Amino acid sequence: MKYALVTGGSRGIGRAVCVKLAQMGYHIIINYVNNATEAEKTLELVRQAGQDGEMLKFDVSNLQQTREALDSWEMAHTEEYIEVLVNNAGIRRDNVMVFMPEEDWSCVLDITLNGFYNVTQPLLQSMLVHRFGRIINMASVSGIKGMPGQTNYSAAKGGIIAATKALAQEVARKNVTVNVVAPGFIKTDMVEGLDEETLKKTIPAHRFGTPEEVAEAVGFLASKNAGYITGNIISINGGLYT
Ligand code: NAP
Repeated sequence: MKYALVTGGSRGIGRAVCVKLAQMGYHIIINYVNNATEAEKTLELVRQAGQDGEMLKFDVSNLQQTREALDSWEMAHTEEYIEVLVNNAGIRRDNVMVFMPEEDWSCVLDITLNGFYNVTQPLLQSMLVHRFGRIINMASVSGIKGMPGQTNYSAAKGGIIAATKALAQEVARKNVTVNVVAPGFIKTDMVEGLDEETLKKTIPAHRFGTPEEVAEAVGFLASKNAGYITGNIISINGGLYT
């Protein structure tokens, strides 16, 4: 059995990634923080794709919760390891900096950056020992270009890009790759409330992307065929920023 963990797998891009990795033959560990009903729907879709999966609830920004959840998984699977990790969980709390409360700054960085550390650090050793691993981090065009009204989110996503490049160099020799996927506007709950009609005029492709289009790139980076690609960014943004 090959195992893949997708943080924030209950909805949106994470759900599409779970289905894609299930189609590739992975047993899927679906992490979520609140939404058990949506996580169950993802599990059902994974099963429809012909694989099994399980739900694993923890808040990626909470070190203790994350450690306990991953430790209990490892204790129940002493002979196995998680070979694909997709650090996808994320939130946005947009505001111009001049009005940004400290809480909105901290929670976005906590979930994206501390979440990356909290989940990746304990799983890395097994990947190195087994001499195979794939880590795919969900950034954003905001982390490359910087978006006004998203100083917190841009900082978090820019940080994850830099962390990816550093870690990729640490672990490449052991056949563990670390890459970033950087979506533009993708139709999920996260973009609800945005003015799609106006925004899509700024996108050369004249539309928002779909979670499945992001999942395809994640699937490729997770595959054996992508073994010589590491420390890289794949932008999926309809030409919004190149
Ligand atoms: P979404 O539909 O809002 O889903 C967010 C997912 O993250 C949910 O599964 C949620 O779990 C989970 N989550 C949130 N906080 C968490 C935490 N503390 N611990 C564990 N899980 C947590 O968002 P999305 O649009 O699919 O975004 C997924 C990723 O893509 C994010 O990193 C986002 O920044 C990035 N991204 C999205 C877009 C876009 O346009 N949609 C563009 C660029 C980048 P619950 O269901 O339990 O709440």
